[in-house]
Amino acid sequence: MNAHFPHLLAPLDLGFTTLRNRVLMGSMHTGIEDIGNAHERLAAFYAARARGGVGLIVTGGFAPNQDSIVMRGASILDNETEAHRHRVITQAVHEHGGRICVQILHTGRYAYTKQPVAPSAIKAPINPATPREMTEVDIARTIADFAQCAAMARLAGYDGVEIMGSEGYLINEFIAPRTNHRTDRWGGAFGNRIRFGLEVLRAIRERVGREFIVIYRVSMLDLVDDGSTWDEVVAFATALEQGGVDIINTGIGWHEARIPTIMTGVPRAAFTAVTRRLMGHVKVPLVTSNRINDPQVAEDVLARGDADMVSMARPFLADADFVAKAAAGRADTINTCIACNQACLDHIFSMQVASCLVNPFACHELDVKVEPAVATKKVAVVGAGPAGMTAATLLAERGHRVTLFDAAGAIGGQFNYARRIPGKEEFGETLRYYRSRLNDLGVGLQLGRRVGAADLSGFEHVVVATGVVPRTPQIPGIGHPKVMGYGDAIEGRRPVGAKVALIGAGGIGFDVAELLTHADAGGELATYRREWGIDIDYTGNRGGLGEPAPPASPREVWLLQRKATRLGEGLAKTTGWARRLLLQKRGVHMIGGCRYLRIDDAGLHLRVGDDERVLDVDNVVICAGQEPQRELVAGLEAAGLPYTLIGGADVAAELDAKRAIWQAAEFAVEF
Ligand code: FAD
Ligand code: NAP
Ligand code: SF4
Repeated sequence: MNAHFPHLLAPLDLGFTTLRNRVLMGSMHTGIEDIGNAHERLAAFYAARARGGVGLIVTGGFAPNQDSIVMRGASILDNETEAHRHRVITQAVHEHGGRICVQILHTGRYAYTKQPVAPSAIKAPINPATPREMTEVDIARTIADFAQCAAMARLAGYDGVEIMGSEGYLINEFIAPRTNHRTDRWGGAFGNRIRFGLEVLRAIRERVGREFIVIYRVSMLDLVDDGSTWDEVVAFATALEQGGVDIINTGIGWHEARIPTIMTGVPRAAFTAVTRRLMGHVKVPLVTSNRINDPQVAEDVLARGDADMVSMARPFLADADFVAKAAAGRADTINTCIACNQACLDHIFSMQVASCLVNPFACHELDVKVEPAVATKKVAVVGAGPAGMTAATLLAERGHRVTLFDAAGAIGGQFNYARRIPGKEEFGETLRYYRSRLNDLGVGLQLGRRVGAADLSGFEHVVVATGVVPRTPQIPGIGHPKVMGYGDAIEGRRPVGAKVALIGAGGIGFDVAELLTHADAGGELATYRREWGIDIDYTGNRGGLGEPAPPASPREVWLLQRKATRLGEGLAKTTGWARRLLLQKRGVHMIGGCRYLRIDDAGLHLRVGDDERVLDVDNVVICAGQEPQRELVAGLEAAGLPYTLIGGADVAAELDAKRAIWQAAEFAVEF
């Protein structure tokens, strides 16, 4: 028994085989799958996670046939040639004592193809194409294709398969009355709606035999109208158990649900109570999921009996060695997933290979290596924001002698603002990670020291990671006492009144609006459920959809920008919609096309189109972007000290932490 996390690291006996611990790496589409012949690269990605101690890996979704692909070019596993190509993956994982299952994914009406198929010809709100209703022949062929895919997985050496039955994909579409309007034996009564899912399981078992892991991902909370009832979830799970499933995994929310279920702002382990409701109804092990990113949280979930196993996906992009570090009692060195989606899901939705904001090496296991430096140097890194911390730790790892300076009394730069935004507390974990790394690597840390070029004369190279300074727009009255910077508002250095105008509606404007309108309704989890109308007890509608009842905002807020476009247009694809929706729920006035005329005792005067108005506000908070902080550069040049600019100090426009960290990493592994 592991002394640190006894429940999480306990083996799980499946009867014919034993998993080494209770950690399942949840299915993630990395985008590597869609690059022709990238099996070696996938093998390296999964092998690193197996080496890092994951008990059971589930691959990204593989399609069982042409109808089921996510989009053109997506990978299908349906023949022996392809199965043999996968052998490199399974061998690599097995060499490190890991187990790996293929996820079989039929996207149904979510397929971005000309002609998706579905139980009924009902268009999904997130796909322009109306699906074709599957015929009896289509259904029989599709069931056989699932079974063929599983058989090919077995041939490839996989330990099992996961049948993707949640998130609003094909199987889920058969189960829910929302998407199944059929009147034949595949629709109507509940027994008919689950027939397809059960037939898929039966056909797979028939092809692969008993000693092959079959996981079924069941949608336990659809979060859409006309989803399943709780009784139906229990009845389906019971039928799956009778059908010979080995493990049941938890799916939460359809992709078309207008409720965020994994992004920043969703509390940790927010849905494990849903899985707990199923415990005891079936004997097969249950896996819980969503926003579990920390070994202690996972341990607590298992210890209190919410599930038998925990699924984490993005945490293994952030840190391949998550499990090994936890087992060794070094959880403080885990690079924690901060749920930002910026380099994983946002990449997938923009057709790029996934990686991780806090770990640029994820999915690049073959092409980037951190190797000892050929000639080590004495390096000063000035600025301990994300760019500086990344550069300092990687340079030190490569053998350079590094000193990291910051004018502030703590490391983190602007992450110290980000972590104060309600829902973004995870950003503090990145700072904890870097604190441990800097300490372990022996980086000299000089905080509370604003350095000039004269302080750096003994160094052979200077990394200028001094970040940014907030932009001050030239608006008459900008010096009025009611005006403050976003830093003052976030850190509470000055009180903020009941009526506030925010100039600038970028990422920071949205964050400040969230902070200023946030009201606690009985704790983080209760507030989240109330704001989004999540009814995990199924007291009302099918699908667990309740009535949102957001607590009253403590302030009236106007979020403003000069552009005439919709506010938040530039926010990330997978999170922007939820951030806009949240502010709407809180009654934030969002106004584009503003011309700021002046600020005075009466408030903020502005023109919107032909309409001139004054917002009678107590405060105006400036969130108008930033400029690079480069005060060091002239001195370094005068002193002839070689230097490199990284992060915001290099380019402030459209700077985010992903660019700051990645640019720093790229520099540090090459230096
Ligand atoms: P900074 O973080 O600005 O760090 C620079 C450091 O240099 C500072 O600590 C400063 O004290 C120090 N310094 C400057 N001059 C000197 C000197 N002469 N001597 C010593 N030290 C000096 N990005 C995202 O990607 N996702 C988000 O969700 C996100 N949310 C954010 C929320 C808020 C509220 C804010 C303010 C920012 C957010 N960002 C986010 C942006 C992100 O924090 C920045 O892109 C990132 O911090 C830039 O990193 P950096 O290292 O270049 O600079
Ligand atoms: P930003 O996204 O560039 O937004 C700046 C805002 O200020 C815009 O709304 C802009 O709109 C306005 N603006 C620019 N110049 C102005 C001027 N002279 N006068 C008045 N308004 C002006 O920058 P940010 O909000 O400061 O964020 C900085 C970086 O942090 C961003 O790149 C962002 O990606 C990152 N960040 C990300 C998140 C996230 O959740 N992913 C959160 C926070 C920050 P108009 O020009 O239309 O007025
Ligand atoms: Fe987690 Fe963000 Fe990395 Fe995605 S990019 S794995 S959400 S930290």
